[in-house]
Amino acid sequence: MEEIIKVENIRKTFNDNVEILKGISFSVEKGEVLSIIGPSGSGKSTMLRCISQLETVSDGTISICGKTLVKNGIYADKKDRHDIILKSGLVFQNFNLFPHYSVLKNVVDPQVQVLKKTKEDAEETAIELLKRMGLGEKIKNYPCELSGGQQQRVSIARALALKPEVLLFDEPTSALDPELTGEILAVIKELAAEKMTMVVVTHEMAFARDISSKIIFMDGGVIVEQGDPVEIINHPKTERMQAFLSRFASN
Ligand code: ADP
Ligand code: MG
Repeated sequence: MEEIIKVENIRKTFNDNVEILKGISFSVEKGEVLSIIGPSGSGKSTMLRCISQLETVSDGTISICGKTLVKNGIYADKKDRHDIILKSGLVFQNFNLFPHYSVLKNVVDPQVQVLKKTKEDAEETAIELLKRMGLGEKIKNYPCELSGGQQQRVSIARALALKPEVLLFDEPTSALDPELTGEILAVIKELAAEKMTMVVVTHEMAFARDISSKIIFMDGGVIVEQGDPVEIINHPKTERMQAFLSRFASN
């Protein structure tokens, strides 16, 4: 099996000296879907941001596709960091689209800037992906003219256009109404069926149980439980996880 993400004992302290990540370790193999669940403030976003290089770790080791981003808190040089950044794509809770760019331009521009593709080439990829996301009719529209679910599908297309080895989702449905949540979960499910490697931070417990290869439960900056999705959701071992799951009983 090919290891796509390997995180070993990462720690993160912000300027206020409060330790937010307290030694997190896990790995993701090619084609796997890892779901991360846990209460607000447990460090889930910080962890994804460290993998995406939007934050730096204070200590620990991260390798992506066998390339070392940071080893025991010491970062690789700029060129290696740039190579590694291209291997993962992050999808945000609030879509992060450019409001003054059309849907098409939102998906084309990163390809031109980051992958140095020609505009024609980038447009071909963008249109193909947007059609796949059911947005073929919307390419000339602006983000504000789309529903939240459609905007999130644009941001998934934008991430896929950069051909990442792994997609990271940070609560991709938390900003959406329940009926729009379903359409995004369906897209992620389809990507999982195509064996896209993914890490998904989510509060959708039934979804996590059904699509994941593995689930991690985080609380207070540590991994409290990790393992088989059905086992972990149906038979949580710790009181902390039982208490957390009891809040999602309707699932
Ligand atoms: P989650 O995504 O699980 O809700 P976060 O990773 O967003 O958790 O936050 C974990 C903790 O880190 C929170 O207490 C939050 O206030 C703190 N935190 C996040 N970003 C920063 C920052 N830039 N500076 C200081 N503290 C931060
Ligand atoms: Mg978060």
